Amino acid sequence: MAGEPHEDCLFCKIVEGRIPATIVRETETTVAFRDINPQAPTHVLVIPKAHYQDAAALAAGAPETAAEVLRETRAVAEQERLDSYRTIFNTGAGAGQTVWHAHAHVLGGRGLEWPPG
Ligand code: AMP
Ligand code: ZN
Repeated sequence: MAGEPHEDCLFCKIVEGRIPATIVRETETTVAFRDINPQAPTHVLVIPKAHYQDAAALAAGAPETAAEVLRETRAVAEQERLDSYRTIFNTGAGAGQTVWHAHAHVLGGRGLEWPPG
């Protein structure tokens, strides 16, 4: 069921503390932790604690939590002292999504080209 934990989901396991992560922030409905394969000096993932497969499914099923994820991207940037940062939601395998639990990438600490690759 939408929002329920998925047994085989890596990020549900991080939420449940069953696999370790470097958590930088937590709210009632979200967790933010460092990406294990950082693409910038700051690379943090902000996820809802509830399982939704991507950002749009989260927005449809739990809009207040989707808004909290967005608020938390800014909170991470402020905590990391980033003046500029990029928030990315990869959606679909062709766009690079590899984990099917909604997550915002927060990237910063270096120049970020536009358009991205
Ligand atoms: P995406 O490719 O957009 O689905 O993003 C998934 C991200 O999760 C990638 O940037 C991975 O480096 C990251 N990742 C995978 N496993 C872990 C983990 N155990 N802890 C932290 N980040 C992870
Ligand atoms: Zn999950």
